[in-house]
Formats: sequence, structure tokens, C-alpha cells
Amino acid sequence: MTSRHVLILGGTGDARLLAARLARRGDLRITLSLAGRTQAPLAQAGEVRSGGFGGAEGLAAWLRESRVDALVDATHPFATRMSQNAVQAARMTGVPLVVLSRPQWEPVEGDRWIDAGDVAEAAELLGPGRRTVFLAIGRQELAAFAAQPQHRYVVRSVDAVDDALRLADAHYILDRGPFAEPDERMLFEREGIEVVVAKNSGGDATYGKIAAARSLNLPVIVVRRPHSDTGQAVLADVDAVIARVAHVLGLPAERGE
Ligand code: NAP
Repeated sequence: MTSRHVLILGGTGDARLLAARLARRGDLRITLSLAGRTQAPLAQAGEVRSGGFGGAEGLAAWLRESRVDALVDATHPFATRMSQNAVQAARMTGVPLVVLSRPQWEPVEGDRWIDAGDVAEAAELLGPGRRTVFLAIGRQELAAFAAQPQHRYVVRSVDAVDDALRLADAHYILDRGPFAEPDERMLFEREGIEVVVAKNSGGDATYGKIAAARSLNLPVIVVRRPHSDTGQAVLADVDAVIARVAHVLGLPAERGE
């Protein structure tokens, strides 16, 4: 019998981990799908495809043509369009869908969080006075901060920021997570950061900046997750997804290596 085929919608560290763990079973064909935004994605277990499918219909067609037996949405919690397409494509094709979404971060004692509904509101909340601002929110979202040129920005991203999105007064850092708290604290001190803007991504890989801000008593403007009620049950970690994928495929939960 040919191996059952699992398509993982990725773009996150969890998706990579999931692909590696499922590939290690040895009884599944794994394809990881990337949006194609990162110029040099990290090496990956299993097959990789890159670029949009062409909406829900395009994804449904891909699922049929590639004989996919299970679809896993392991995209970032802010990637709502892809997640909605996944729900629709799963309905159109009958392919079972498993969704991974890390629980969001919650403020703890000592945090100075300021809630923002979206990135544009976060930019406005910086206020009229000049401040040094740390941004690690994704290159595509920088445009909102061009409307607040009074600040000095320290922008961190995996790939270089396009000229069109460059801010007037900014220092650019190229780096790829995970980022540990002590390193984030050193960076904030070195750069004289006064306020941090962060998306509420959840998970450990990028929590270091939140913990570092707390230890330095810095305010963090936290962008709330977009509201996206697809009615789909959501699993909180990679182990739960592995068990669920095995279950929907009628396979044993674990397989010896
Ligand atoms: P989005 O707004 O939900 O997606 C926009 C379009 O990009 C989708 O409709 C789809 O095009 C394509 N796409 C997105 N993810 C894809 C994937 N894994 N494989 C193939 N095509 C994909 O998402 P986004 O905010 O642009 O995010 C793009 C990617 O970056 C995602 O994989 C996400 O996990 C990752 N990411 C996003 C954020 C964030 O804050 N948004 C942060 C870290 C990582 P078609 O409709 O043509 O299929």
C-alpha cells in the first residue's frame, strides 16, 4: 500500500517540527507547504512546496491531485486567510483537517501590556513623543509605522526589508528565532529600547522579548489575534496533532524508529 499523504500548511517552527516528527515515523508521505515569503527557508524533513494555491478552490484541487489523506493547518495565528481556505478546502474535498494553534500569551505579574486591535492601532498607540521602538512583527506590516515617523525604530526580520517598506529612522537587524530572554534583554539595553510592539503569537520561540520587556519594566504594545471563528477544533501542541493525525488515518499513535 502506498504511504498516506499528509499536507502541512506551515510557515512556523511548529510546522517544521511536526513535519520532522511525522516524517520520522517512516510510514507517511509528508509535504510541508510554505507561503514562499522567506528567501532561504531552513532545511526540512519530507517534501516542500512553496507559494499560494490560489484560494480555497486551488487548495482543494491540490488536495485531490496530490491524493492528500490529511491536512494540517500549522500556520501562524495571524495567517487567517490561509486558515479559512483550509477549512473550506477540507469541506469541499472531505479531507480531514487538523488545526494546530498555540495558546495565546497572557499577561503575568510585572507585565506592562497595552492592548492593540491590530498593527495600525499599535502604531498609533506609540503616541506623539519620540520613542525608541522594537518591532519584530513581520516585514509586510511595517507600513503602518511610516505614519509615525517621529520615532526611532529597531526592526528585526528574517529577510531584509524591501526599500518600499523602509522607515525614516530605523536600524535593521536580520535574525531568525528562537530568541532567548537574556539575549533579548541585552539587545534592548544596547539599543535603548523604550517600548516593544509584539503580536500575540503564543509559544516559546518568541516569548523572550516579552520576558525581557518585563524584566526591564518596558511597556509592550500587544497586538491581539485577529478574530477568526472557523468553528474548527484547535489543538495546542505538536504532540496532540501527531496523535490526532494518526487517529484520523487509522494508524497507531507512535511507531518505533
Ligand atoms: P495569510 O494572510 O493567511 O495568507 C495569504 C495567502 O498566502 C493565502 O491565501 C495563501 O495564498 C498564501 N499562503 C499563506 N500561507 C501559506 C502556506 N503555508 N502555503 C501556501 N500558501 C500560503 O497569511 P500571511 O499572514 O500572509 O502568512 C504567510 C505565511 O507566513 C504563513 O505560512 C504563516 O504561517 C507565516 N507567518 C505569518 C505570520 C503573521 O504574523 N501573519 C508570522 C509568522 C509566520 P493562496 O490563497 O493563493 O493559496
